[in-house]
Formats: sequence, structure tokens, C-alpha cells
Amino acid sequence: MTPQQEVEYTIYHYRQLLKEMIELTEEDELERAVAFCQNESGEIYPTEVEVGSKEWVHPPVTECLDRGDKPSGDFHTHPHGDLELSTSDYYGLLEPLNLNFKCVGTLKHGKYYVKCALRPQTDEYRQDPAYERLKFCLEELQFTKDTEQSRILKYCISKSTQELVEKYGEIRTFKL
Ligand SMILES: [Zn+2]
Repeated sequence: MTPQQEVEYTIYHYRQLLKEMIELTEEDELERAVAFCQNESGEIYPTEVEVGSKEWVHPPVTECLDRGDKPSGDFHTHPHGDLELSTSDYYGLLEPLNLNFKCVGTLKHGKYYVKCALRPQTDEYRQDPAYERLKFCLEELQFTKDTEQSRILKYCISKSTQELVEKYGEIRTFKL
């Protein structure tokens, strides 16, 4: 499946789950996240829902890896109509996790929206200078034990990924 097909399949099959997560965030302002894994026969299934803070939530993609499956992508909520993917929301879309999609959902004027960043379908992005920067920061991240330094490197990884996805990938908005 292409990233487009994967995200369409996921939204179609788990629409109710996504809506419920958005509703709960609207009530208590805490962001929620779910990862979607793909098993050997190609089936896509959700992980447990993770509850985060008012600014941040960590999508539980490692749950897929723990089960020996491939993480396809993830979805998280933003409160009060904020449909923008933040820079850190791009983390893992290319390296180090190679996710196919990263989506954010919110309730805006009484309607449910989901915005997704999709992985580029060709390797063309690997020729871009931003990819060199992404690789460099990933490499450095492996060797640092300093918290501030790894925060800067993770920002660099997210930012480079965002640049590459905006140029070679796709951003799509869906109505639930
Ligand atoms: Zn976010």
C-alpha cells in the first residue's frame, strides 16, 4: 500500500476511535495519541491510546515493534481547533522510524478534522541537502548523552523531515 492508501484505510476503519480521542481532548485539553501497526498479513491495527499533557503526547509506536510488527503511522489530538502539525510532530516520519504517515486531529466549528503528513513515495528526497542534515543529526544523536544536546538534535531531525515532506511528500486534510 502507498502512504495515501494506508492513511485512507486507517481513517476509514478507525474513524470512531479517532473521533472519541478528539472528544476527550476537547473535554480535558490533554492530548491523546495512538499508533497504527501493520502485521505480516498486511492488517492495520491500533495500539493502546496514550494520554499526554496539554502540550505534548508521545505516540506509542514502540508497541508495534514490541509485537514484532511494523509501525505504519500515528495519530494524535490537539485541543480547540489547532490543526497544525508542529515541528516535533514530524519526528519519525522518515528516519529513524520510517513511518508512512503522521496525523493530527481536532474539533473545529463542530466538525472533526484530521491533517496528515505523508512519507514521500520515491527516494528522490535522499538527494536533497536537508537529507544530509537529517542523517548527520541522527548520527550525532546516537553519541550524545547530554539532554540539551539531544533536544537540539531531535529538533534538527524533525525540522529536516518537515522540510523534506513539504517538498517531496504530501500534506492532506480529511473530514471525519
Ligand atoms: Zn502535535
